[in-house]
Amino acid sequence: MQQHIDSYDFRGKKAIVRVDFNVPLDENFVITDDTRIRAAIPTLKKVLAGGGSLIIMSHLGRPKGVDAKFSLKHIVDHVSEKLGVPVQFADDCQKADAQAAALKPGEALMLENLRYYAEEEGKPRGLAEDATDDEKKAAKAAVKESQKEFVKHLASYADCYINDAFGTAHRAHASTALIAKYFPNDKMFGYLMEGEIKAIDNVLKNAQHPFTAVIGGSKVSSKLAVLENMLEKVDNLIIGGGMGYTFIKAQGGKIGNSLHEDDLIPQANEILEKAAQKGVKIWLSTQTLVADDFSNEANTKLVPTNDIPDGWEGMDAGPDSIEVWKKVILDSKTVLWNGPVGVFELSTFEKGTLQIAEALAEATKKGAYTLVGGGDSVAAVTRMGYSDKVSYVSTGGGAMLEALEGKDLPGIAAVRE
Ligand code: AMP
Repeated sequence: MQQHIDSYDFRGKKAIVRVDFNVPLDENFVITDDTRIRAAIPTLKKVLAGGGSLIIMSHLGRPKGVDAKFSLKHIVDHVSEKLGVPVQFADDCQKADAQAAALKPGEALMLENLRYYAEEEGKPRGLAEDATDDEKKAAKAAVKESQKEFVKHLASYADCYINDAFGTAHRAHASTALIAKYFPNDKMFGYLMEGEIKAIDNVLKNAQHPFTAVIGGSKVSSKLAVLENMLEKVDNLIIGGGMGYTFIKAQGGKIGNSLHEDDLIPQANEILEKAAQKGVKIWLSTQTLVADDFSNEANTKLVPTNDIPDGWEGMDAGPDSIEVWKKVILDSKTVLWNGPVGVFELSTFEKGTLQIAEALAEATKKGAYTLVGGGDSVAAVTRMGYSDKVSYVSTGGGAMLEALEGKDLPGIAAVRE
C-alpha cells in the first residue's frame, strides 16, 4: 500500500530515496545548474526532520561502466550545503552495507552513480557489434537475472522507499520502479513527484474548460502521440514551430524550404480530420517570420504561412499568429504548453516563443491553470523570468512528454500498485 510522505512516521527509519541529480557539470566538475538538486531538498529534509536517515541514490549522465567523469562525488558537497547536514559517500552503490547500517537519525549517505552498473537500466553492455540475435537475447536475459540481486541489495539498505525522481519516471529501471516491490507497505512519492503528478492530473484528468494545448517543437514525428492524446482532451490545439509546416503543407500550403516531414502528411491530415469530427479547433500559424539562412544574421521577412517563397524557411511565428494564439490562450481556463513556436535559440527568432511565455503568465494572472512541460518551453519561461508566474513548470522533459501521450509512467505505477 502506498504511503504519504506527510503522514509517514520516519522515526528511526532509513529511507532510500531515488532522486534525479543528473545535473549539468562543466569541465572542472562544477555544477552549472542545480535546479534538480534544489527540487529534491524538501523531500530529503522532511525525512531528516521526521527523525529518519537518508540513503540518496541517483544516476549521472550515461556512463558505460565505472567512469570517474560521471561520479556523483563531484556533487556531494553541494548536496550537503543545500541539505544543511554533511552527506557521506559510498563509492560503490552495491557495497554500502556497512555505511547504511551505521546511519543514525538525521544522517545522510549518497550512493555512487547507479548507472555504473548495467543492472540499473537492465540493458546489456559491451555486446560485439556483430552479435547475433541469440547472443543479444542471452545477454539481455543475463542482465535481467543479475538485476534481481542488484535491486534486492539496494532495497536491503533501507526500511522505506521514496521516489522523487520525476525526470526518470518514464523508465522502468531498478531504482525507479523495480525496487518498490520490496517495500509493499513503505513506499511513497516525494514532494517533487507529487507536484508533477498533480500538475499532470490538473490538465489530463481535471481540466477546466476551455482547455488549450500549445504544442510546438521541431518534428511532428516526435509529438504525434501527444497531439493524438490532446485531441481527446482539449477545446483548442495550437500547433506551432517547425512541426506546423507539415500541417500547412498537408492543407495544400506552400512552405518554401521550411522544416517538414512528407511521410507524416497522412497523419497530419488524420489529426485535422479527427479534430473536425470532435469539434476541437486547430490553430495553425497564419503568419511566419521567414529567413534565407538558418542564422541570426539571415535576411528576414514576414509572409503568410501558407505562401512561403522558395529559398526561404519559416523560423518563427509572426505577430499576426501570436495575436490570434494569445487571444485563444487568454480565453482559456487551462493551458498546457510544450515546445517552442520558433527557433528560439537564435535571438532573431525568439520573439514568438517568448510571447507565448508572456501569454501564459497573463492567463495565469487571469485565473487559468497553466502548465509548462518540456525542456525548451521551460527554458523560455525561465529566460523571461516567468517561472513563478505560471501555475507549474515541469522538471521532466521525456517523462512529461510520455505522460502527455497518456502513458502510465513505470516510476509512478510502481509506487501506486
Ligand atoms: P522539440 O525538441 O521537438 O520540442 O523541438 C525543439 C526544437 O524545435 C528547438 O530546438 C527549436 O529550435 C526547433 N524549432 C522550432 N521551430 C522551428 C522551425 N520553424 N524550424 C526549425 N526548427 C524549429
